Amino acid sequence: MKSLLIHTGGTIGMGATPEGFAPAEGVIEAALADLRVADVTLLPLLPLIDSAQATPADWNRIAQAIVDNHSDYNGFIVTHGTDTLAFTASALCFALAGLKRPVILTGAMRPLTVEKSDGLQNLSDALQAAETAPPGIWVQFAGQLLHGARVRKAHSSALDAFTASRSAKPPLQPGKTPSFTCYQPCEIGILSMAPGQSEACLAHALTTLDAIVLRVFGAGTLPETPALRAGLLAAQTRQTPIIAISQSPKGGIALGTYAAGNLLLEAGVIDGHDMTPEAAYTKLAHVLSLPEPQRQAALNRNLCGEFTAFGP
Ligand code: ASP
Repeated sequence: MKSLLIHTGGTIGMGATPEGFAPAEGVIEAALADLRVADVTLLPLLPLIDSAQATPADWNRIAQAIVDNHSDYNGFIVTHGTDTLAFTASALCFALAGLKRPVILTGAMRPLTVEKSDGLQNLSDALQAAETAPPGIWVQFAGQLLHGARVRKAHSSALDAFTASRSAKPPLQPGKTPSFTCYQPCEIGILSMAPGQSEACLAHALTTLDAIVLRVFGAGTLPETPALRAGLLAAQTRQTPIIAISQSPKGGIALGTYAAGNLLLEAGVIDGHDMTPEAAYTKLAHVLSLPEPQRQAALNRNLCGEFTAFGP
């Protein structure tokens, strides 16, 4: 079984510097030598980065590397920083289609270069999963194989940092042959509701952005201020896609439950069900990268198990 390991950076491959941990060369190579694995080719995506610096251009580079090498390998591993790993996993789920191989993202909370690192175990588990997991985008971390479009970094220091709710739909979009939709530049914001929030901030976001993730309260309520009403209706007129998701980590939204959420329906806001903020954000980025006539249908569909309620 031949695997391609795409190394992007992150704690797993970091070394100590006077400014704190930073990506270092040769760390992943040494770990592969320790694990004595055969048939793993390493592809470093240079420069190696702390994933805090990742951009949609990095998602495109990873997706391109997977599609270009698809027929030469049985599975793919992506080593990545944990801070934005959930964004990249979701982004790959939306961008890639027609994969016949597993893509396994992993990383570490403690660098391979320090004692008691979780990196070697995660790397070894990921290499194994690249041979055995079903096709799709998965995250292998702390002994768990997690759905790429459902995953979140839920803890900032524990080794078991990631959670994902289950999905009956695999993290995979269908397609005859492997392909990907390149992320195009666009202005997307995540706007979280708060009591007494700055009206100027809301008005600016709602009248200028190309797409918005609206993090509403509980089952789908929001403060019905004149500024928010005017902003949401203006966004609707501009045909700005807005996905509403809950600030509560579990349960998702149920639009129509409360009168205090009716403005969302009135303004044509899209029901994000129980999508993670990372999935909602990357779904909007993906949809805006599609040709205009395909956008509305893609927004309403469950593309790769990103939410629980199944659409058509
Ligand atoms: N700041 C690091 C990164 O995301 C954290 C990690 O990898 O755990 O690259």
